[in-house]
Amino acid sequence: MALVVQKYGGSSVADASCIKRVAQRIVATKKAGNDVVVIVSAMGDTTDELLDLAEQVSPLPPGRELDMLLTSGERISMALLAMAIANLGHEARSFTGSQAGVITNSTHGKARIIDVTPSRIREAIDQAHIAIVAGFQGVSQDTKDITTLGRGGSDTTAVALAAALEADVCEIYTDVDGIFTADPRIVTAARKIPRISYDEMMEMAACGSKILHLRCVEYARRFDLPIHVRSSFSTKEGTWVVSDPYSEGTEMEQPIISGVAHDRSEAKITVVGVPDKVGEAASIFKTLADAEINIDMIVQNVSAAATGRTDISFTLPTADSPTALAALKKIQGDIAYESLLFDDQIGKVSLVGAGMRSHPGVTATFFAALADAGVNIEMISTSEIRISVVVGQDGVDAAVAAAHRAFDLDADQVEAVVYGGSGR
Ligand code: ASP
Ligand code: MG
Repeated sequence: MALVVQKYGGSSVADASCIKRVAQRIVATKKAGNDVVVIVSAMGDTTDELLDLAEQVSPLPPGRELDMLLTSGERISMALLAMAIANLGHEARSFTGSQAGVITNSTHGKARIIDVTPSRIREAIDQAHIAIVAGFQGVSQDTKDITTLGRGGSDTTAVALAAALEADVCEIYTDVDGIFTADPRIVTAARKIPRISYDEMMEMAACGSKILHLRCVEYARRFDLPIHVRSSFSTKEGTWVVSDPYSEGTEMEQPIISGVAHDRSEAKITVVGVPDKVGEAASIFKTLADAEINIDMIVQNVSAAATGRTDISFTLPTADSPTALAALKKIQGDIAYESLLFDDQIGKVSLVGAGMRSHPGVTATFFAALADAGVNIEMISTSEIRISVVVGQDGVDAAVAAAHRAFDLDADQVEAVVYGGSGR
């Protein structure tokens, strides 16, 4: 008997009939002789709607209250799903994140899981019940307040619980058949990736591929837990995220490029005229770190000899920009930089592939493809298995399509079906 953890995203539980369909799928897994623990997201666009509602009553809602509000979305879906399963004659119990033992730090809106103590879930399994857990939420160890794990955080709940329960597999159900070589909404010739490594998947997630939450992949890698990303709208085999996808026996040759990811959710801030002195960059980034802002790419220009000043540009989540700009304004007096520039009309396009380690010329091919597509590069950053560029937002689609074609990733026939529409 296997212990299967299944996570259903918002599009899989968007309405009553979806919930009933998912309930059947869960019951079928149970009937096949498995123990089943299910993690659910909020129905459809509930989280966005709740955020809108909050904004209408307050432009900057207190984090504690926002988390209290947003976590209600998952409570709705978990209870409805448990009812639908009960209606099929099976025992199901729903649990909030807190009840399921998801213990976090106290950073509202992007809390980190620090411990998972799922004794109530174990009890439910021992009693042959199906446990349904609200994703995306936990409880702070210090303040005892309810927290959320950041947008898309239900994936992380699923993997963290699967690891703590020593599950055999964590299945992540979404509205596409797996992970594709590019977003099928932009590249219709995108292909399904049968197997991908944790490292590549982490790069994809960090570069805007929304199909899996970055922390969830980090977690899975740490515990060597296989993730199977698949559609709840079909029974097709999806994408396996594992440590060594190209090991012998899998009959898969390592591609040079596994996929092309893109991200429109970042903005660029330029600190203009920073005195070129030891420690200035350190104070700028210390200030941003203290404000809990995750910086992505950084570019420092060569300082102009005449002025002894330099410009430092960096990218960050657009949503964090007001906080970042405010924090930087506060230190303008100390650092004596000249001004701040802000640009949210940017996009990031990234090539990811473990194969690029051993293949020269990947950058040249990528940049030539962008040039042919008439897309200008504003910033560049690389890792061992990734090349990312920042481009103007209106060039993103063309850049993704051009890169996909240049690395022969286009499929001959359209493979990608988007069942739900949200990719969640
Ligand atoms: N409902 C949350 C969100 O929309 C969490 C999730 O879907 O994973 O971000
Ligand atoms: Mg999701």
